[in-house]
Amino acid sequence: MSAEVFLRRGNDIMNLPLSIVRAAEAGGYAVGAFNMHNDETTQALLIAAERANAPVFLQVGRAIIPHIGLRKAYEMTKRIAAESDAVHVIHLDHGSFDEVLEAIKLGFTSIMYDGAHLPFEENIRTTRRVVELAHDFGVMVEAELGRIPDADQAVDWSSYYTDPDEAERFAAETGIDILAISAGVVHGVPTMEPQPLAIDLVRDIKERVGIPLVLHGASGVPDVELTDAVKHGVHKLNADTDLRLAFRRGIEETWAQGDRQFEVAVTRGRALMVEATIEKMRLYGCAGHADDVRVAAVSADRGW
Ligand SMILES: [Zn+2]
Repeated sequence: MSAEVFLRRGNDIMNLPLSIVRAAEAGGYAVGAFNMHNDETTQALLIAAERANAPVFLQVGRAIIPHIGLRKAYEMTKRIAAESDAVHVIHLDHGSFDEVLEAIKLGFTSIMYDGAHLPFEENIRTTRRVVELAHDFGVMVEAELGRIPDADQAVDWSSYYTDPDEAERFAAETGIDILAISAGVVHGVPTMEPQPLAIDLVRDIKERVGIPLVLHGASGVPDVELTDAVKHGVHKLNADTDLRLAFRRGIEETWAQGDRQFEVAVTRGRALMVEATIEKMRLYGCAGHADDVRVAAVSADRGW
């Protein structure tokens, strides 16, 4: 029996994604959320989660949707994850309103609705609607406030940072479960002098919203800044680039030796991505913590 089936027996009274993030909050660590791209990268994340005994969020991200579509990305992830004992969640990253609806229908248990481009009041209204729909199906909702620039964008950070006053209102009025914030981190690995993480801002937002925070773009952020962020309220860390680079290194190393079968190259890519993912899980502190939720699930099942 796969770990997800095992855990979802208690689903009436517990929401697995939220239980994972709350266990991270209680335990003072962050769960890693990493993008799947194909069979081998999905396998790499699950193998890493098994070996590190860590919970993992398998993210269906922005790049794969125009590539193979949301349904295929979900079904592929689900099929591969069913063969694994890892404690996992399939999560939609940066979904539009329509994508979120489709994801809920498909069976995602966790979604991020991205209304950050909308005017503030409209973002509140739309996000609240998403929360109502998602919660009816026991789906966890992440939303974002503030804007997260891409790695190659030179920005005036003052117009990108999450505003703590807005964050407080947003969380209270929408009922979201977790909040992604902008605090100096970019999507991807910074190509210019990186902005230090605004740790005071993280702490301030956390105090006001009271729910777990999320940081996107954790690749390329100094380890010490990430562990500091975890201490101050960040309990889900999204990273993609570093793992993609590990996979790419495996492929390049293999083909640098001359022509090899495709399978040989991606097998090496997968192996290096497993190692890189385990490293992230150790850094985020979630390694060794898969049993936090397994125990919770068993307790919930028995009505303790
Ligand atoms: Zn993001």
